[in-house]
Amino acid sequence: MPALPIVIGEDTPILRAKTVPVKKITKEIKQLIADMKDTVAAAKGAGLAAPQVGRSERLCIALLGKTMTPMVNPIITWKSESTAIAEEGCLSLPELWLNVSRSTEIIVAYETEAGKKRELKLHGFDARVVQHETDHLDGILITDHRRQTVL
Ligand code: ZN
Repeated sequence: MPALPIVIGEDTPILRAKTVPVKKITKEIKQLIADMKDTVAAAKGAGLAAPQVGRSERLCIALLGKTMTPMVNPIITWKSESTAIAEEGCLSLPELWLNVSRSTEIIVAYETEAGKKRELKLHGFDARVVQHETDHLDGILITDHRRQTVL
């Protein structure tokens, strides 16, 4: 399956649009997930959100532990008050590394590729990746955190 071209640029409209929930996990959605997995593997990324390949579905994949995990309609339902700052990059903003403050623990609710509802409590790097990817689904990029966070 082909790696898809990755959309880049801080002001690119598709990267700034809020995504639309996936109503049904069709064959086409499964194909998109497979293509996104190939894309993130080729780019050696830790995650990828649908807008980054030019799509408007609320869908991302995130590296949790060693597993690239597809998340359909992910919503962060809880974030810890405790935060940590770490450097993040983004496949859509090449060559840019920024310190971003994120909650150290989160709970995320989503559907699997098979349409099963899941809820995960994540911490550390896993929690950071999911916050980064769900930000993409709301049109938010790491450069927005730069404006909000005094370092
Ligand atoms: Zn990103």
